[in-house]
Amino acid sequence: MIKQKKQGNLIIISGTTCAGKGTVIQELLNRNSNLSLSVSYTSRKKRDGEIEGKDYYFINKEQFEDKIKNDEMLEYEIVHQDHYYGTPKKEVKELLDTGKDVILEIDVKGAQHVKEMFPETVLIFILAPSMEIVKERIKARGKENNEQIIKRFQTAYQEINEIPKYNYVIVNDVLEDAVQKVEAILLSETCRVDRIEEIAVENQEEIIHEFLMEKEFDNSPLYEDKLN
Ligand code: 5GP
Repeated sequence: MIKQKKQGNLIIISGTTCAGKGTVIQELLNRNSNLSLSVSYTSRKKRDGEIEGKDYYFINKEQFEDKIKNDEMLEYEIVHQDHYYGTPKKEVKELLDTGKDVILEIDVKGAQHVKEMFPETVLIFILAPSMEIVKERIKARGKENNEQIIKRFQTAYQEINEIPKYNYVIVNDVLEDAVQKVEAILLSETCRVDRIEEIAVENQEEIIHEFLMEKEFDNSPLYEDKLN
């Protein structure tokens, strides 16, 4: 009766530094085969443990600028005031065409650009329970120097001011709760009216006629049983 659009939903997940959005996304991908993640390009250096093609495609500044020139980026930003990060156009289109929902893990400015291009995009912001916890997580990670930590905090405070531009906000206190909340959002988004391509309803007169014909041969009382 209802034919849904074949293309999946575009979902943006942003969040302050150390809000645990990467862990939430990984858990979502493990549990939901209808979800995929677009891998971004970045000009920042690979951190220990990061995998090329899984966490990012790591390229240098010149290669990134070539991609911009060749119009290969859906959006890109200079994040934390120093490195390029961008979403590849072709890969996102290919993923959406498979019918899967596609997650972009991108920053607030990138999210706004994508929303302007595709207003039906779902914007979710993941927040750490407190900035005190963010501080502890950055310290524990131990991968940034003081200057980088200050930049990350500055960006985090700026991003929190942008939360009203998002559709949903989730505090990542308990991982399981946060994942379930995102799943609930994604499920309800699949039922959105603008996801419907066509509503095909059978001919009303034919249905009524068939119903009345069937009723003629059916002598069982309609209501009596229940009313007695
Ligand atoms: P990190 O260096 O910690 O991996 O990421 C830093 C920030 O860059 C995060 O806020 C992340 O969401 C953002 N980011 C990652 N990929 C992209 C992208 O393709 N586009 C934009 N605009 N931001 C991105």
